[in-house]
Amino acid sequence: RELVSPDAAGDERAIEAALRPKRLDEFIGQARVREQLSLVLQSALARGRPPDHILMSGSPGLGKTTLAMIIAAELGVPLRVTSGPALERAGDLAAILSTLSEGEVLFIDEIHRTSRPAQEMLYLAMEDFRVDIVVGKGPGATAIPLDIAPFTLVGATTRAGLLPAPLRDRFGFVAHMDFYDVAELEQVLHRSARLLSVNLPPDGAHEIARRSRGTPRIANRLLRRVRDYAEVRADGVVSREVAAAALDLYEVDSEGLDRLDRAVLHALLHRFGGGPVGLSTLAVAVGEEPETVEVVAEPFLVRQGLLARTPRGRVATAAAWLHMGLTPPPDAVG
Ligand code: ATP
Repeated sequence: RELVSPDAAGDERAIEAALRPKRLDEFIGQARVREQLSLVLQSALARGRPPDHILMSGSPGLGKTTLAMIIAAELGVPLRVTSGPALERAGDLAAILSTLSEGEVLFIDEIHRTSRPAQEMLYLAMEDFRVDIVVGKGPGATAIPLDIAPFTLVGATTRAGLLPAPLRDRFGFVAHMDFYDVAELEQVLHRSARLLSVNLPPDGAHEIARRSRGTPRIANRLLRRVRDYAEVRADGVVSREVAAAALDLYEVDSEGLDRLDRAVLHALLHRFGGGPVGLSTLAVAVGEEPETVEVVAEPFLVRQGLLARTPRGRVATAAAWLHMGLTPPPDAVG
């Protein structure tokens, strides 16, 4: 059964949306988060009250937006979506908060990037379902309290450590999202292949899963690139050989490292002798923002045991030297 119309086939965003699981029991992996969340939601439904505010933390592409949509769907309430950078002025947030309907879920992506004044408004809104609208300026300014409908805030962040404690403490439940293992990514791929009518045998799924950086969004993206390759250069079947050849062409290596990952390791080994080197120096060497290196590349490299974060800076492990085809120095970390 085709869920994606031919018109939408070229539109990657439409495909991504079509591939999103809609209910909690369709959501693959993250078993602990799923069980915790299911309890929070069921008890809220039983009490007939909105659940506690929920914070989700984890690397990009692990399914935070998807889970926010699922939370609203499971509660049977509308979802309002915004993001930290869009809430620059407290007034932007006040406009949203004052128009929420009872029980609505407000999703704030990248909540660590919300401005200070907006954060302060959030504290009050989360705790007392109230906002203070400030009228006038200087000594004559007055705050007019305004009640708002009880709602559930769902925040997502790639960097929970950057949230000020008063904001973090107002979430009743924090979901820590981890990288997915290969078996879970295989399930994600088989589900997506079914929805996209891609012929994906188990060995092909395994090859793509292994190279997906533990991330469902990447798995889905690689599946589409491999499908293109299979249709043009092979018989449409995504076998292990076809997947491997396509992923080599797209510069995704045997461990799933992409261009940025390899650039980071390359700079670390060739320019800084394996480290230690500070994050900003390393970022300059690869021509990226420090935040991109820290949020996008490093968590996966750390998890693969290729990079270590030490008090003196970033260090390549012996495995990193070997992965890049070099001999580790005798003092390389394990
Ligand atoms: P970001 O933090 O960058 O917003 P995210 O963590 O919110 O990313 P999503 O946009 O929710 O990630 O997910 C990316 C894609 O991965 C979606 O298209 C969705 O189909 C797929 N996906 C994520 N998690 C799962 C899952 N557990 N099962 C199946 N598919 C998933």
